[in-house]
Amino acid sequence: MRRIVLGLGAGLGLGLAVSAAHAGPLDVQPVVPDVWAIVGPTEQRSPENLANNATFGLVVTDEGAVLIDPGGSSQGAAMLHEAIRAITDQPVVYVINTGGQDHRWLGNGYWQAEGATVIASAAADADHHARASLQMSALATFLGDGLEGTAPAYADITFESDHRLDIGGLSFEIMHRGPAHTPGDAFVWLDERDVMFTGDIVYVDRLLGNGPAGNTRSWIEVFDAMAAFEPAHVVPGHGHATDLATARRDTYDYLVHLRREIGALIEAGGSIIEAPQIDQSAWDHLSQFDSLAGRNAQATFEEMEWD
Ligand SMILES: [Zn+2]
Repeated sequence: MRRIVLGLGAGLGLGLAVSAAHAGPLDVQPVVPDVWAIVGPTEQRSPENLANNATFGLVVTDEGAVLIDPGGSSQGAAMLHEAIRAITDQPVVYVINTGGQDHRWLGNGYWQAEGATVIASAAADADHHARASLQMSALATFLGDGLEGTAPAYADITFESDHRLDIGGLSFEIMHRGPAHTPGDAFVWLDERDVMFTGDIVYVDRLLGNGPAGNTRSWIEVFDAMAAFEPAHVVPGHGHATDLATARRDTYDYLVHLRREIGALIEAGGSIIEAPQIDQSAWDHLSQFDSLAGRNAQATFEEMEWD
Protein backbone atom coordinates (compact mmCIF):
# COMPACT_ATOMS: atom_id res chain seq x y z
CA MET A 1 0.00 0.00 0.00
CA ARG A 2 2.76 2.36 1.02
CA ARG A 3 4.62 1.65 -2.20
CA ILE A 4 1.52 2.50 -4.24
CA VAL A 5 1.05 5.81 -2.44
CA LEU A 6 4.69 6.74 -3.02
CA GLY A 7 4.42 5.75 -6.66
CA LEU A 8 1.32 7.88 -7.11
CA GLY A 9 3.00 10.84 -5.41
CA ALA A 10 6.04 10.58 -7.68
CA GLY A 11 3.76 10.30 -10.68
CA LEU A 12 1.85 13.44 -9.73
CA GLY A 13 5.08 15.34 -9.15
CA LEU A 14 6.33 14.39 -12.59
CA GLY A 15 3.03 15.39 -14.16
CA LEU A 16 3.21 18.85 -12.60
CA ALA A 17 6.83 19.33 -13.67
CA VAL A 18 6.02 18.34 -17.23
CA SER A 19 2.91 20.51 -17.53
CA ALA A 20 4.83 23.56 -16.25
CA ALA A 21 7.11 23.33 -19.28
CA HIS A 22 4.20 22.99 -21.72
CA ALA A 23 1.80 25.52 -23.19
CA GLY A 24 -0.92 23.31 -24.58
CA PRO A 25 0.82 20.87 -26.90
CA LEU A 26 3.96 23.07 -27.10
CA ASP A 27 7.19 22.04 -25.40
CA VAL A 28 9.36 25.00 -24.43
CA GLN A 29 13.04 24.02 -24.71
CA PRO A 30 15.83 26.38 -23.58
CA VAL A 31 18.72 26.28 -26.07
CA VAL A 32 21.32 28.84 -24.94
CA PRO A 33 20.90 32.08 -22.95
CA ASP A 34 18.16 34.23 -24.57
CA VAL A 35 17.22 31.50 -27.07
CA TRP A 36 14.38 28.99 -26.91
CA ALA A 37 12.91 26.35 -29.18
CA ILE A 38 9.12 26.13 -28.89
CA VAL A 39 8.46 22.63 -30.08
CA GLY A 40 5.08 21.58 -31.41
CA PRO A 41 3.97 17.97 -31.87
CA THR A 42 5.24 15.90 -34.82
CA GLU A 43 1.72 14.76 -35.72
CA GLN A 44 -0.78 16.09 -38.27
CA ARG A 45 -2.56 19.46 -37.88
CA SER A 46 -5.50 19.23 -35.45
CA PRO A 47 -7.97 21.37 -33.46
CA GLU A 48 -5.70 20.73 -30.44
CA ASN A 49 -2.41 21.89 -32.01
CA LEU A 50 -4.04 24.64 -34.15
CA ALA A 51 -1.52 23.91 -36.96
CA ASN A 52 1.44 24.46 -34.62
CA ASN A 53 2.76 21.00 -35.53
CA ALA A 54 6.24 22.44 -36.06
CA THR A 55 9.13 24.03 -34.18
CA PHE A 56 9.43 27.78 -33.61
CA GLY A 57 12.38 29.84 -32.37
CA LEU A 58 12.39 32.67 -29.84
CA VAL A 59 15.23 35.10 -29.15
CA VAL A 60 14.80 37.66 -26.37
CA THR A 61 16.73 40.95 -26.38
CA ASP A 62 16.49 44.18 -24.38
CA GLU A 63 14.85 45.78 -27.42
CA GLY A 64 12.15 43.15 -27.85
CA ALA A 65 11.80 39.53 -28.88
CA VAL A 66 12.29 37.98 -32.30
CA LEU A 67 10.06 35.05 -33.22
CA ILE A 68 11.17 32.65 -35.90
CA ASP A 69 7.90 31.56 -37.54
CA PRO A 70 4.53 32.80 -36.34
CA GLY A 71 2.38 29.67 -35.86
CA GLY A 72 0.05 27.97 -38.32
CA SER A 73 -3.10 29.97 -37.59
CA SER A 74 -4.22 33.04 -35.67
CA GLN A 75 -5.33 30.96 -32.70
CA GLY A 76 -2.09 28.99 -33.01
CA ALA A 77 -0.17 32.28 -32.82
CA ALA A 78 -2.12 33.17 -29.66
CA MET A 79 -1.11 29.78 -28.23
CA LEU A 80 2.53 30.59 -29.04
CA HIS A 81 2.10 34.00 -27.42
CA GLU A 82 0.96 32.33 -24.21
CA ALA A 83 4.13 30.22 -24.21
CA ILE A 84 6.24 33.34 -24.90
CA ARG A 85 4.61 35.30 -22.05
CA ALA A 86 5.80 32.56 -19.68
CA ILE A 87 9.36 33.22 -20.90
CA THR A 88 9.53 37.01 -21.19
CA ASP A 89 7.65 40.30 -20.80
CA GLN A 90 9.33 41.62 -23.95
CA PRO A 91 6.96 42.15 -26.89
CA VAL A 92 7.55 40.27 -30.14
CA VAL A 93 8.82 43.02 -32.43
CA TYR A 94 9.96 40.95 -35.41
CA VAL A 95 8.65 37.73 -36.92
CA ILE A 96 10.72 35.87 -39.50
CA ASN A 97 8.95 33.53 -41.96
CA THR A 98 11.44 30.78 -42.85
CA GLY A 99 9.34 29.19 -45.57
CA GLY A 100 6.02 28.69 -47.28
CA GLN A 101 4.26 26.08 -45.17
CA ASP A 102 1.22 27.20 -43.15
CA HIS A 103 3.12 27.10 -39.83
CA ARG A 104 5.75 29.42 -41.30
CA TRP A 105 3.36 32.28 -42.04
CA LEU A 106 -0.40 31.91 -41.46
CA GLY A 107 -0.04 33.32 -37.92
CA ASN A 108 1.43 36.56 -39.36
CA GLY A 109 -1.77 38.60 -38.98
CA TYR A 110 -1.91 37.97 -35.24
CA TRP A 111 1.61 39.35 -34.73
CA GLN A 112 1.15 42.30 -37.08
CA ALA A 113 -1.90 43.28 -35.00
CA GLU A 114 0.41 43.11 -31.95
CA GLY A 115 2.78 45.54 -33.68
CA ALA A 116 5.38 43.14 -35.06
CA THR A 117 7.16 43.52 -38.40
CA VAL A 118 7.25 40.38 -40.56
CA ILE A 119 10.27 39.43 -42.70
CA ALA A 120 10.29 36.78 -45.47
CA SER A 121 12.30 35.97 -48.58
CA ALA A 122 10.70 37.20 -51.81
CA ALA A 123 10.40 33.58 -52.93
CA ALA A 124 8.55 32.66 -49.73
CA ASP A 125 6.30 35.71 -50.11
CA ALA A 126 5.45 34.64 -53.66
CA ASP A 127 4.74 31.12 -52.37
CA HIS A 128 2.45 32.54 -49.64
CA HIS A 129 0.44 34.45 -52.25
CA ALA A 130 0.30 31.43 -54.58
CA ARG A 131 -0.84 28.88 -52.00
CA ALA A 132 -2.88 30.94 -49.51
CA SER A 133 -6.31 29.71 -50.59
CA LEU A 134 -5.12 26.11 -50.94
CA GLN A 135 -3.65 26.16 -47.43
CA MET A 136 -6.70 27.89 -45.95
CA SER A 137 -9.06 25.26 -47.32
CA ALA A 138 -6.83 22.42 -46.12
CA LEU A 139 -6.67 24.01 -42.66
CA ALA A 140 -10.44 24.45 -42.55
CA THR A 141 -10.68 20.66 -42.76
CA PHE A 142 -7.98 20.00 -40.17
CA LEU A 143 -8.81 22.73 -37.62
CA GLY A 144 -12.56 23.35 -37.98
CA ASP A 145 -13.47 26.27 -35.69
CA GLY A 146 -9.80 26.50 -34.76
CA LEU A 147 -9.24 28.38 -38.03
CA GLU A 148 -11.57 31.23 -37.00
CA GLY A 149 -9.73 34.56 -36.97
CA THR A 150 -7.05 33.44 -39.45
CA ALA A 151 -6.62 35.47 -42.64
CA PRO A 152 -3.58 35.35 -44.92
CA ALA A 153 -1.25 38.26 -44.07
CA TYR A 154 1.97 38.91 -45.93
CA ALA A 155 5.49 39.98 -45.00
CA ASP A 156 6.26 43.68 -44.41
CA ILE A 157 9.89 43.27 -45.50
CA THR A 158 11.05 40.93 -48.28
CA PHE A 159 14.56 40.20 -49.53
CA GLU A 160 16.06 38.29 -52.45
CA SER A 161 18.92 36.31 -50.90
CA ASP A 162 20.18 38.02 -47.72
CA HIS A 163 18.73 40.19 -45.00
CA ARG A 164 20.40 41.27 -41.79
CA LEU A 165 18.37 42.25 -38.75
CA ASP A 166 20.26 43.98 -35.91
CA ILE A 167 18.43 44.26 -32.63
CA GLY A 168 19.43 44.39 -28.96
CA GLY A 169 23.11 43.75 -29.72
CA LEU A 170 22.36 40.61 -31.72
CA SER A 171 22.47 40.17 -35.48
CA PHE A 172 20.19 37.81 -37.37
CA GLU A 173 21.53 36.85 -40.78
CA ILE A 174 18.61 35.53 -42.82
CA MET A 175 19.64 33.65 -45.95
CA HIS A 176 17.66 32.21 -48.85
CA ARG A 177 19.92 29.91 -50.88
CA GLY A 178 17.34 28.16 -53.07
CA PRO A 179 14.32 25.88 -52.71
CA ALA A 180 14.41 23.13 -50.09
CA HIS A 181 11.13 21.88 -48.60
CA THR A 182 9.32 24.88 -50.11
CA PRO A 183 10.48 27.34 -52.80
CA GLY A 184 11.34 30.19 -50.40
CA ASP A 185 13.00 28.45 -47.44
CA ALA A 186 15.52 30.51 -45.48
CA PHE A 187 17.81 29.80 -42.55
CA VAL A 188 18.63 32.27 -39.78
CA TRP A 189 22.13 32.47 -38.32
CA LEU A 190 22.60 33.98 -34.87
CA ASP A 191 26.38 34.14 -34.75
CA GLU A 192 26.62 35.62 -31.24
CA ARG A 193 24.88 32.55 -29.79
CA ASP A 194 26.17 29.94 -32.29
CA VAL A 195 22.56 29.02 -33.09
CA MET A 196 21.06 28.21 -36.51
CA PHE A 197 17.30 28.33 -37.05
CA THR A 198 16.57 26.23 -40.11
CA GLY A 199 12.81 26.15 -40.68
CA ASP A 200 11.83 23.21 -42.87
CA ILE A 201 15.39 22.77 -44.16
CA VAL A 202 15.93 20.47 -41.15
CA TYR A 203 13.62 17.83 -39.68
CA VAL A 204 14.58 15.73 -36.65
CA ASP A 205 12.46 13.43 -34.43
CA ARG A 206 10.10 12.85 -37.40
CA LEU A 207 10.60 11.87 -41.02
CA LEU A 208 10.63 14.79 -43.43
CA GLY A 209 8.16 15.03 -46.29
CA ASN A 210 9.53 15.91 -49.72
CA GLY A 211 7.38 19.01 -49.90
CA PRO A 212 5.95 21.27 -52.57
CA ALA A 213 9.31 22.49 -53.91
CA GLY A 214 9.92 19.01 -55.37
CA ASN A 215 13.64 19.65 -55.48
CA THR A 216 15.69 17.34 -53.25
CA ARG A 217 18.84 18.23 -55.21
CA SER A 218 18.51 21.89 -54.21
CA TRP A 219 17.46 20.94 -50.64
CA ILE A 220 20.76 19.05 -50.21
CA GLU A 221 22.71 22.09 -51.51
CA VAL A 222 20.79 24.43 -49.19
CA PHE A 223 21.56 22.13 -46.24
CA ASP A 224 25.26 22.29 -47.18
CA ALA A 225 25.12 26.11 -47.29
CA MET A 226 23.51 26.11 -43.82
CA ALA A 227 25.94 23.53 -42.40
CA ALA A 228 28.95 25.55 -43.61
CA PHE A 229 28.36 27.85 -40.61
CA GLU A 230 29.05 24.83 -38.35
CA PRO A 231 26.45 25.85 -35.76
CA ALA A 232 26.82 24.40 -32.26
CA HIS A 233 23.02 24.44 -31.91
CA VAL A 234 20.35 23.78 -34.50
CA VAL A 235 16.72 24.78 -33.95
CA PRO A 236 15.04 22.71 -36.67
CA GLY A 237 11.72 23.19 -38.42
CA HIS A 238 10.34 20.05 -36.83
CA GLY A 239 11.54 18.31 -33.68
CA HIS A 240 13.66 19.41 -30.73
CA ALA A 241 16.69 21.67 -30.82
CA THR A 242 19.68 19.52 -31.58
CA ASP A 243 23.23 19.45 -32.96
CA LEU A 244 24.41 19.51 -36.55
CA ALA A 245 25.29 15.80 -36.57
CA THR A 246 21.72 14.82 -35.69
CA ALA A 247 20.30 17.27 -38.22
CA ARG A 248 22.57 15.76 -40.84
CA ARG A 249 21.61 12.17 -39.98
CA ASP A 250 17.83 12.75 -39.95
CA THR A 251 17.58 15.12 -42.94
CA TYR A 252 20.68 15.36 -45.16
CA ASP A 253 21.66 11.69 -45.08
CA TYR A 254 18.05 10.72 -45.72
CA LEU A 255 17.75 12.98 -48.77
CA VAL A 256 21.06 11.71 -50.16
CA HIS A 257 19.92 8.12 -49.58
CA LEU A 258 16.57 8.72 -51.29
CA ARG A 259 18.28 10.15 -54.36
CA ARG A 260 20.87 7.35 -54.49
CA GLU A 261 18.30 4.56 -54.20
CA ILE A 262 15.75 6.10 -56.55
CA GLY A 263 18.52 6.99 -59.01
CA ALA A 264 19.59 3.34 -59.05
CA LEU A 265 15.99 2.22 -59.56
CA ILE A 266 15.54 4.57 -62.53
CA GLU A 267 18.90 3.48 -63.92
CA ALA A 268 17.74 -0.15 -63.73
CA GLY A 269 14.58 0.70 -65.67
CA GLY A 270 12.32 0.45 -62.61
CA SER A 271 8.93 2.14 -62.34
CA ILE A 272 7.36 4.47 -59.80
CA ILE A 273 5.24 1.57 -58.54
CA GLU A 274 8.45 -0.03 -57.22
CA ALA A 275 9.75 3.17 -55.63
CA PRO A 276 8.25 2.57 -52.14
CA GLN A 277 10.14 -0.76 -51.98
CA ILE A 278 13.54 0.89 -51.58
CA ASP A 279 15.14 0.26 -48.19
CA GLN A 280 14.59 3.23 -45.86
CA SER A 281 14.82 1.25 -42.63
CA ALA A 282 17.72 3.31 -41.26
CA TRP A 283 15.13 6.06 -40.57
CA ASP A 284 12.21 3.88 -39.44
CA HIS A 285 12.60 5.04 -35.82
CA LEU A 286 11.42 8.52 -36.83
CA SER A 287 7.82 9.54 -36.22
CA GLN A 288 5.61 9.63 -39.36
CA PHE A 289 7.83 7.02 -41.05
CA ASP A 290 4.94 4.71 -41.95
CA SER A 291 2.81 7.44 -43.50
CA LEU A 292 5.58 9.28 -45.38
CA ALA A 293 8.39 6.90 -46.43
CA GLY A 294 6.58 5.42 -49.43
CA ARG A 295 5.27 8.79 -50.56
CA ASN A 296 8.75 10.31 -50.33
CA ALA A 297 10.14 7.55 -52.53
CA GLN A 298 7.45 8.19 -55.16
CA ALA A 299 7.89 11.97 -55.02
CA THR A 300 11.66 11.57 -55.45
CA PHE A 301 11.06 9.26 -58.42
CA GLU A 302 8.77 11.85 -60.05
CA GLU A 303 11.41 14.51 -59.49
CA MET A 304 14.37 12.46 -60.69
CA GLU A 305 12.85 10.95 -63.81
CA TRP A 306 13.19 14.47 -65.32
CA ASP A 307 16.77 14.99 -64.09
ZN1 LIG B 1 7.12 22.25 -41.80
